[in-house]
Amino acid sequence: MKTALSGFDTEGLKKVLADCGQPPYRAKQLREWVNRAVSFDKMSNLPKPLIATLSEKYSVTGVEIIKKLISRDGTVKYLFALGDGNVVEGVLMRYKYGNTLCISTQVGCRMGCDFCASGIDGLIRNLTAGEILGEVLEVNRDEGGTPEKRAVTNVVLMGSGEPLDNYDNVTSFLRLLNDKEGLNISERNVSLSTCGITDNIKRLADDGFSVTLTISLHAADDETRKRIMPTANKYKIADIVSAAKYYFEKTGRRYIFEYSLIKGVNDGKDNMLALAKLLKGLPCHVNLIRLNYVKEKGLKGSDNAEEMKKILENEGISATVRRTMGSDIDGACGQLRRRFLND
Ligand code: SAH
Repeated sequence: MKTALSGFDTEGLKKVLADCGQPPYRAKQLREWVNRAVSFDKMSNLPKPLIATLSEKYSVTGVEIIKKLISRDGTVKYLFALGDGNVVEGVLMRYKYGNTLCISTQVGCRMGCDFCASGIDGLIRNLTAGEILGEVLEVNRDEGGTPEKRAVTNVVLMGSGEPLDNYDNVTSFLRLLNDKEGLNISERNVSLSTCGITDNIKRLADDGFSVTLTISLHAADDETRKRIMPTANKYKIADIVSAAKYYFEKTGRRYIFEYSLIKGVNDGKDNMLALAKLLKGLPCHVNLIRLNYVKEKGLKGSDNAEEMKKILENEGISATVRRTMGSDIDGACGQLRRRFLND
């Protein structure tokens, strides 16, 4: 598989170019093209022989948009093909403040959550930093954006995969995304969602990152959590909360707990009271999610999200119900990819 040029910063591109016998000043030119996700043949200020050499060994972004579904509400679901034929999904959601792109960090996932379509066939492979950034660069271009006037303003690592199970590539990606000579998207506009890999939450803070930390909790007690998330056998809720506290101490960033309401599993008043007790006084916010139905899984979502939100608020916990977007275009995580593969 060809290496994606989007995985290099300007210094890295200097080395790539030096191997082709090219002077360092070309790195900036090449970076600007990569930031725009244009094909090799459009890189008009680079010598033709250089383009020929580069395109033998490298791809520009490592991903290609192969399918686009546009919802009535403007949400766009993207299917990306990688260089080895694997496919991953992304979703662009339009808000008043800008456009948020949800991207994947792995092909498949090995966390095996009971309600999630991404993990049905386990982990196939990690995405490289260049491919993860490639998803952002391709959609930004597809939406008419440039590095100067971005069409993608916010990024969430909430597509398929567990970002903290692909730590090195994900953190390289975060550096590249934030780079002044790249798209320069601030960490304040990036959220990372994890099922709660505690050691890597701490490592992320220790390594100086300050993205918005979002933790998929989905239960307030370990027993309930173990029923739906195999990782709960390894990572206890108490340790997850203490890792979140650590992250806050280091970064000053309020964190978010995601809680998908599953009928008859975690959607009772008692579950909300236990959640409120667990989170009381913490600098956090709860995002209640209506479970998307995944046919392979059979678990049903609850219709009582607003009611559950009121219970939390009465207990002094800040909470919102996640707005459902793109429900007419196969919203559920990993569903579009599965349908594509089945077809
Ligand atoms: N692995 C990471 C990020 C990807 S999943 C994580 O676990 O956070 C992004 C979010 O979608 C997680 O909160 C996940 O639990 C949730 N999710 C997965 N399948 C879902 C479904 N069918 N309906 C609603 N939310 C789902």
